[in-house]
Amino acid sequence: MIAVFHTGLHQWCPTKMNRMSTTTPANRHAAAPAAAPEATKVSNFLRQIIESDLEKGTYASRRWGGSPGDAAHHAAGQPDPAKIRTRFPPEPNGYLHIGHAKSICLNFGLARDYGGVCHMRFDDTNPEKEDTEYVNSILDAVQWLGFGWDANGTSHLFQASDYFDFMYRAAEYLIEAGHAYVDEQTPEQMRVNRGDFGKPGIDSPYRTRTPTDNLARFRQMRDGLYEDGAMVLRAKIDMASPNINMRDPAIYRIRRATHHNTGDKWCIYPMYTFAHPIEDALEQITHSICTLEFEDQRPFYDWLMERLCEGGLLAAPSPKQYEFARLNLSYVITSKRKLAQLVYDHKVSGWDDPRMPTIVGLRRRGYTPAALQAFAERIGVTKSDSWIDYATLEGCLREDLELKAHRGMAVLNPVKLVLTNWDELMGAGHLEPCTQPALPHPPEGVESPTRHFTIGKEVWIEREDFEEVPPKGYKRLFPGNKVRLKGGYVIECTGCNKDANGVITEVLATMVPDTKSGTPGSDSVKVKAAISWVGAANGVTVEVRMYDRLFLDAHPDAGGKDFLESLNPNSLKVVSAIVEPSLANALPGQNFQFERHGYFVADRVDHVTGSKPVFNLAVGLRDSWGK
Ligand code: ATP
Ligand code: MG
Repeated sequence: MIAVFHTGLHQWCPTKMNRMSTTTPANRHAAAPAAAPEATKVSNFLRQIIESDLEKGTYASRRWGGSPGDAAHHAAGQPDPAKIRTRFPPEPNGYLHIGHAKSICLNFGLARDYGGVCHMRFDDTNPEKEDTEYVNSILDAVQWLGFGWDANGTSHLFQASDYFDFMYRAAEYLIEAGHAYVDEQTPEQMRVNRGDFGKPGIDSPYRTRTPTDNLARFRQMRDGLYEDGAMVLRAKIDMASPNINMRDPAIYRIRRATHHNTGDKWCIYPMYTFAHPIEDALEQITHSICTLEFEDQRPFYDWLMERLCEGGLLAAPSPKQYEFARLNLSYVITSKRKLAQLVYDHKVSGWDDPRMPTIVGLRRRGYTPAALQAFAERIGVTKSDSWIDYATLEGCLREDLELKAHRGMAVLNPVKLVLTNWDELMGAGHLEPCTQPALPHPPEGVESPTRHFTIGKEVWIEREDFEEVPPKGYKRLFPGNKVRLKGGYVIECTGCNKDANGVITEVLATMVPDTKSGTPGSDSVKVKAAISWVGAANGVTVEVRMYDRLFLDAHPDAGGKDFLESLNPNSLKVVSAIVEPSLANALPGQNFQFERHGYFVADRVDHVTGSKPVFNLAVGLRDSWGK
């Protein structure tokens, strides 16, 4: 559940980007009182558009043929049970990242909130770069985030390559109606003749060919009579348009490549700008939400919809495209291509390296679906680019884990503490059972499980919890000072033993009788500090991977910078730690708070190396990014 957000937001931006104003939805959200999840949703321009369409009944008369299809298919169907239709349309050419998570939460979230359906669609019209490994990872990521594509008794999982036949038919229709032609100029001639911002384009000498000629040529293209790149099919719009995308954009090209779905059936493939609107229309999408870089494509999107509706190929009303600002996160790269480079150059251990901003990486780092959903909600949707501070993402994880993660004690830099009077008071070898709640503040209606551990003569403590000569204000162990071993006894420090090099090998203390936590009168001895510890008799040695940011530069790839130059050489430190026995049987993926150290997760991939369980640092207890 998304509850009150109490941490400050530290949104900032470099000079070229607009600063997020202090009245962004995110900030207003931060001030919102605790309430039902619905009430925490902040309105935004997309919600306003959808609400207005619902009010006006823009899409109320649509029909749905039960599956994607052309105008006739939908006309024969039922009134659409979905009030709106959105889609998440990734290209299966890499693993999804945090930016995609925003888009997933947005598209699936809007459909859920307005009685609609969100389609899961693979935009697989580019045969060269795609792979089924990516397809599976994408489906897994969407489901893990908490969304699905089954609705009204059917699955809404589609792939754009299933529409190649229709796309071809649409292209032939455009040719017949005089809206498209085959251009045999060289790519270089086409580029020059397209003009630029200040200069109108020049018509291709092939622009005036008859539809009959064009159709014959296009069919020959399809039948494999020409070399790759020999000619393209172009929409015939306006070579003088101020929008360069409207200067007769290419819509089909020759490319001999085996497609993972259609094999070698085609040697011509539709261009993305042509394919995408058609995919939306066949699926009866109402609100087609994309990132800002597609704004200039919108006139072509609308042009194509109008032509194909005129021709009776597509059902009206057509989908409409709306653009929002993509997520830019400080210290993070959100480009599949660049993330792939990190993987292939072995800068990280794989797509799921816990330092990667991929969904699989975030998951292995200990991020939860609830934290990522809260993050997407909090950053909101805007029309202008901005940078979100990484601390905002971490804050969302902390808020989620604060309530849910079981507590446990772990000693990351251990030194032994010997209770010199233990044998005498308790009996040699005695182990005293102790308990603590796993959840100190359980959510309402939840009873905290109890952690069991023991204390004996020897325990592990953090090396930094003892000072032979205490600095001013130091409250932990130093000779003569008393502290509480959390959940155990009050102890009084008596000194330490050292090796020949002067390194402390043991801290010495005496146990104060009748001070065991939770027993009557245990607080009669006042102390200024309680320290964490793990009993030597049943503490478990584990491997802890301490992760830090992957890049030292807040904008690693901005302005064409080489992001490999700002890789943080210290982004991973492996330490051997000792944890309390309740953590030894952690399930892969289970989150914990190691008291005082932060939130950790039992690694999902190599949760055991050698004989040691592995834990990954998810996030510290406090924001340390500003420091
Ligand atoms: P990349 O450049 O990383 O390959 P992309 O935009 O090409 O990203 P697609 O697979 O085409 O990746 O994206 C699927 C959907 O995710 C698109 O609708 C796209 O707008 C959205 N998306 C991708 N990156 C971001 C981002 N950083 N913020 C928000 N949405 C994003
Ligand atoms: Mg892409």
